[in-house]
Amino acid sequence: MLVDSHCHIDFPELSGELDAVVAGMRENGVTHALCVSVTLEDFPRVRAVAERYPHVYASVGVHPDYPDVPEVTVGELVELARHPKVIAIGETGLDYYRIKGDLEWQRERFRTHIRAARQCGKPLIVHMREAAEDTLRIMGEERAGEVAGVMHCFTGTWEVAQAAMALGFYISFSGIVTFKNAVALKEVAKQVPLERMLVETDSPYLAPVPFRGKTNQPGLVRYVAEEVARLRGVSPESIAEGTSDNFFRLFNVKPS
Ligand SMILES: [Zn+2]
Ligand SMILES: [Zn+2]
Repeated sequence: MLVDSHCHIDFPELSGELDAVVAGMRENGVTHALCVSVTLEDFPRVRAVAERYPHVYASVGVHPDYPDVPEVTVGELVELARHPKVIAIGETGLDYYRIKGDLEWQRERFRTHIRAARQCGKPLIVHMREAAEDTLRIMGEERAGEVAGVMHCFTGTWEVAQAAMALGFYISFSGIVTFKNAVALKEVAKQVPLERMLVETDSPYLAPVPFRGKTNQPGLVRYVAEEVARLRGVSPESIAEGTSDNFFRLFNVKPS
């Protein structure tokens, strides 16, 4: 059993072949996946995927890399999160790498998501790129630890991982950990306690080695788990079991 804690199978690269994507999950022992929302405009598409496949779940949120979409309110997020297959708020967070300029709107949008998560009691999916200091500061100020969540596609340092875990957050590794040049991240993957770790694809992007550069899909999360296991000198089964248990616990999902 293995879970992909973060994918975008509603994106055009994969949405036309969803039955094949789900069959690919089965072939690789991937039992569940969380399809993550990036805008409110796309959210109905994400929700429809979760309604169609019993073991695919959804989140609701507006990604920090979308500057030109209408600003979401706490009330809208809480309302959309009432759907039984919506198990998280996000993805949200800060991205100082992709977007430049005055990013006060990103920080405000992030605060809105944390407030919504606290109001509806659902965990957060946090996207953080070259913005660790502000991300952690806002998480603290807004008391994100009350609902916790996941630092998805983690590429930060061990110190940043520790600070996020101190707030009750989980650390999720993507295909990046399989890349040869990800030397520092491989070290972090050795150190994060198994009971705080998740794995993900972020598909259709970031396909793991040996599929690097190709279209990614949830079944390939297996290669992420196998690399983490190799780095730690443990069995892939133990990583699969531990990260699956964490997913069910964090997102309050029944393992069946
Ligand atoms: Zn992201
Ligand atoms: Zn994503």
